[in-house]
Amino acid sequence: MSQTKDFAYWRHLAEGLQIEGRALIDGEFTAAASGKTFDCISPIDGKLLTQVAWCGEADVDHTVAIARQRFESGVWSDLNPRQRKEIMLRWAELIRVHADEIALLETLDAGKPIGDTTTVDVPGAAYTVQWYAEAIDKAGGEVAPVDYHLVGLVTRQPIGVVAAVVPWNFPILMAAWKFGPALAAGNSVILKPSEKSPLSALRVAQLALEAGIPPGVFNVLPGFGDTGKLLALHMDVDCLAFTGSTFVGKQLMQHSGQSNLKRVWLELGGKSPNIIMPDCPDMARAARSAAGAIFYNMGEMCTAGSRLLVHRSVKDEFIKALIAEAAAYKPGNPLDPATSMGAIVDHIQLERVMSYIETGKGEATLLLGGGRTLTETGGYYIEPTIFDVASQEARVAAEEIFGPVLSVITFDTLDEAIALANASEYGLAAAIWTADLTTAHEAARRLRAGTVWVNCYDEGGDMNFPFGGFKQSGNGRDKSLHALDKYTELKSTLIRLR
Ligand code: NAD
Repeated sequence: MSQTKDFAYWRHLAEGLQIEGRALIDGEFTAAASGKTFDCISPIDGKLLTQVAWCGEADVDHTVAIARQRFESGVWSDLNPRQRKEIMLRWAELIRVHADEIALLETLDAGKPIGDTTTVDVPGAAYTVQWYAEAIDKAGGEVAPVDYHLVGLVTRQPIGVVAAVVPWNFPILMAAWKFGPALAAGNSVILKPSEKSPLSALRVAQLALEAGIPPGVFNVLPGFGDTGKLLALHMDVDCLAFTGSTFVGKQLMQHSGQSNLKRVWLELGGKSPNIIMPDCPDMARAARSAAGAIFYNMGEMCTAGSRLLVHRSVKDEFIKALIAEAAAYKPGNPLDPATSMGAIVDHIQLERVMSYIETGKGEATLLLGGGRTLTETGGYYIEPTIFDVASQEARVAAEEIFGPVLSVITFDTLDEAIALANASEYGLAAAIWTADLTTAHEAARRLRAGTVWVNCYDEGGDMNFPFGGFKQSGNGRDKSLHALDKYTELKSTLIRLR
């Protein structure tokens, strides 16, 4: 009989959990050369989970040298893609076998509801590894048209040593969007998880070894921004794949320019508009979706629909429905499968979000929430919060908060809605709800965003769609076959026959 995975099950599993906090270098769990560690605190209750290695210059230099040597040796890069595929498929399966443990690590470390880590984050990471494994032995090159006396080949080769620096909101999934295609393409990878959520990456990388990825091909160096900066400035890292804030993304481009012009790929912030037209075909669904767009994952989402643009004629009705739907996101213990809203990742982020809420109270009308909650737990919880904003200039409406805070902005015409939507430094995602085909297509064209949803929000969980941003939301794309472009160099080879 299968076991019921209730609150008691997860608490029991958490009590017996062995947590690894050392770096994974050349196939071995290793303390930082300096011996330095940092505290890994659970946002569920503010208690210490473990100490984690804080990798510094010696670790970065050593690991880059190992990764380079493994790349040059061909133990991974020169395998027939079919062999890499087989190993990565085994790895995906191992992630699935250990899914409960990895989901639990993610929930304890980042405060995400266990109902989400078991259904989205961990299966999503396994699927990413599987998808790129399955793709890699189908991706060939081209024979280019050329003079009769020549043969011209256009091929893609792995780029070499890839550093991946990732955030904490979907720790293992964001990492998998980098290491999946980078490893499938034959590179060596050094992953720097966020200091706020380093644990799942260490376990998943250990499973890569178990699956057969040779030691030193996939390494994990925990640490803060200083560790990421060392990788970004390193002369022997060929590519830096980053997901995180626009602020840090700008620094990384400079680090590339100051060092070896390594390729820098950036998946950055967002302040995504969700437009409700008066002919929205299903107001109830749109309200449910608008609540999910900002309150799912505690609003810690780069694609969060944090600006709700509502037509004046439907505003009152829509806000009423939205507030009713927000009730589904009641903060609770993330280990309880009934919980749909967990803890904010740490006290720094908690204070940042609360400070925005205080600012919002001075510049907008508070419609819902606005406070911390469950303080008796010692954890970091914030109520779903909604502001009615008179002008999009208000800081809560203009800046990325990365928390459960929604700004409602009123408009009168489609042109005004599009102008408001595009009046942002970001361009990650956007949505519009309308029954009119022409409005839908025109808006989709005019919205300056990497992803546009029509009559839905956050759909498209499979790997087929490239994901990334216009403007200061970044460059390059994760997911889909296009992601392989980031981790390969194009080569033209011309052979003279006579
Ligand atoms: P962050 O930029 O503070 O940190 C991201 C990573 O960079 C962490 O691993 C951090 O340790 C490291 N880092 C920090 N300073 C660094 C430096 N100077 N040099 C090198 N590395 C450094 O972002 P965060 O708070 O972890 O994540 C939230 C941000 O990520 C939000 O802006 C969000 O929109 C963005 N995000 C974007 C996407 C996307 O796909 N576009 C997805 C998820 C999150």
